Amino acid sequence: MLHSLLVILLLLVPRGARPAPSDPVQVVEVDLVYARATLLRGRGGAVLVDTGLPGAGARILGVAHRAGIEPEDIELIVLTHVHVDHAGGAAELAQRTGARVAVQAAGQGLLAAGLGAPVVPHTPLGEVIAWVGDDHRVPAYDAEIVVEDRLDLTPWGIDGFVLAAPGHTACSQAVVVPGQLAVVGDLIVGPSKSPQIPNLRELPDQVISSIQAVLAYHPQQLYLGHVAPVPEERAVALVDAR
Ligand SMILES: [Zn+2]
Repeated sequence: MLHSLLVILLLLVPRGARPAPSDPVQVVEVDLVYARATLLRGRGGAVLVDTGLPGAGARILGVAHRAGIEPEDIELIVLTHVHVDHAGGAAELAQRTGARVAVQAAGQGLLAAGLGAPVVPHTPLGEVIAWVGDDHRVPAYDAEIVVEDRLDLTPWGIDGFVLAAPGHTACSQAVVVPGQLAVVGDLIVGPSKSPQIPNLRELPDQVISSIQAVLAYHPQQLYLGHVAPVPEERAVALVDAR
């Protein structure tokens, strides 16, 4: 009797801040060997998050095709930030799909000028990354959508939004589908088993608060820019450890 009462009481306890489930979004991961891109298919078309290095278009569209997504289905390209391994394929993919490109306001001028966002190392590995990739230019593209902090994705059939997530770069942004997933670019880096804050930090003081802002929406999986996705609890542990 006591046990049943307890169960009933537990069932009555509200789930706190956990958001109401959004319509499920299908995720297609595109492993580009070095970088990663992510396709999100909601109601209707698809949204591509990140575009790899210059020349990655054929591989991304090939993976999309095998998942049943044709170029014309991709109506929006979101760039998590303007580094060449994420924004390098934007111009080519916009041309091949007809999609509009969304970039955070702080990155618009850089992308239009063909310049990458600053590469600011904070660790020895960061120094190596900065040295290896010392040509930071990207193919220039005049983005159609300049995101001022946030962009609602419901017009593209996804119950989520793009959210400013500065830290790795000033122009970093994340895609968030509350209660389901987030695509965070290089806001969090590998290894997937013990994710870390990025080695490159243009705005180091804002990395943790940006991760916290994403985690406030309880994404079950966080898709990263270079390694396999991590579950929510590993990202929470990363923040808790700081
Ligand atoms: Zn980056």
